[in-house]
Formats: sequence, structure tokens, C-alpha cells
Amino acid sequence: MRIASLGSGSQGNGTVIDDGETRLLIDAGFSLKEITSRLKRIDLTPADITAVLVTHEHADHAHGVGPLVRKFSLPLYLTHGTYRALRLGLFPSLHLINPHRSFQIGGFEVDPVIVPHDAREPCQFVFRSGDDCLGVLTDLGHISSHVVDRFSCCHGLLLECNHDLDMLRNGPYPERLKRRVGGDLGHLNNHQAAGLLSRTDLSRLRLLVLSHLSERNNRPDLAQGAVTPVLAGWRGELVTAAQDTGFSWRDV
Ligand SMILES: [Zn+2]
Ligand SMILES: [Zn+2]
Repeated sequence: MRIASLGSGSQGNGTVIDDGETRLLIDAGFSLKEITSRLKRIDLTPADITAVLVTHEHADHAHGVGPLVRKFSLPLYLTHGTYRALRLGLFPSLHLINPHRSFQIGGFEVDPVIVPHDAREPCQFVFRSGDDCLGVLTDLGHISSHVVDRFSCCHGLLLECNHDLDMLRNGPYPERLKRRVGGDLGHLNNHQAAGLLSRTDLSRLRLLVLSHLSERNNRPDLAQGAVTPVLAGWRGELVTAAQDTGFSWRDV
């Protein structure tokens, strides 16, 4: 299995995973034009995508979903709550998923995981293909034991490190937004992300991607500095996803 990112952060998100047979796009938070040009960077066109999955309705994950799936007639998978919130209307190949139940797309078994986030019916995903297990985990306000449980199988993990607490506290956001981002239904800070890793079996983990970093409230060196202590002795690959460039293909 391999993974690439079209970009990651509050201005837009999109992750592509590929098991050699099936290619899934998780979230489409850019314009169709931007998605097309970012896919080109990883040698894909929208027509190469087998299906699109959407984690929740926030614009940084869903901005380009409607135009993309309509123009290229792509199957779309999302929860009923996310579908209703996006007001996408009807179109062929709409799959409303039950976030309590796993489902199959091509060679992937997809396991939705409900997360605490201020959207209608948000979920994140664990993907299995053959012996490989990959988790995509962003946009959650805190780590529940349910989340620890469900992501403990992962060989590859794309994990939110949204903000550094001091930068958020002392940064330019209005108080209300600071409370939202830092709240239990907001986003994971660097130390919460490290906390998840400290509760995870790192011997399985081969690839860790720090993602959804806030451009105003975080820096790559702070996110890496927060997780490094809990990664002592770990031999996998550590990658930080960028807003503009994401990252190119990595094997899981
Ligand atoms: Zn987001
Ligand atoms: Zn969100």
C-alpha cells in the first residue's frame, strides 16, 4: 500500500491511498482545478480515482467534492449527516455509510471511526489491504479510548498535529475561535498527538505523517519536537505533510 497527500491544513486536505488496484481519495478540500493539478504532481488524473471518501463537511475537506464526483462520475462514500450538511443533491454512485460498520471498496476494507469533532456526523478511517493497515486521523478534539483502540493496528498513520498550545493561546485568533480549536470538539494539539502515540504499539508502525498543521498556530519543528520523545527507539519514517505540497508517494 502507498499513500500521498495533495496538501494538508486548514486551507484544504486531500489524501490518496493506493494498493496497486484501487485508488481512494480521502477528502477533497480544494477546488476542482487545484485537485486536478495536485493529482498531476503524483502522476494521477481524477479519472484514476476509484472512489472518494469524505470525513466531514468542513470546507477544508469538502470544498471540491461536488464538482469532482459529478464531473468524473466518481463513487462517493460519506455518512448521512455529512451528506445532508453538504447539500450535494442526488447523483449516481452515492454510498451513505454507517459509521459503525466496515465496508469494502475494491481491495480495501474500510473501517470508519467516529471522532469527537464539531461537525454533523464526522468519522475518520482505518484502511486494510492484504496485511497492511493504514489510519487517517485528523479533525478531532481529543483522543478517546475508542480511537486508541481502533487505530492500534496501523502500519501507517496520518495523524493530526493541529496546533501548539502556546502559539494558539498567544496567537492572532479571536478568543471564540481559540476556544473552538482548543476545545474537546476542535482539533488535536501536538501534545495530544504525542499522547496517542504513547498509547500505541509503535513496533507495528512504519510510517508516521504529522498532518493538518495550522499555519498560524503551529510549526513543523514544534510538532516534531512534541512527538520525538515518545518515538525514542522507533525506527520508522517520520514525515510532515505541508499545506501547499502535501507529500509525494510513500510506501506503508
Ligand atoms: Zn480540517
Ligand atoms: Zn473539521
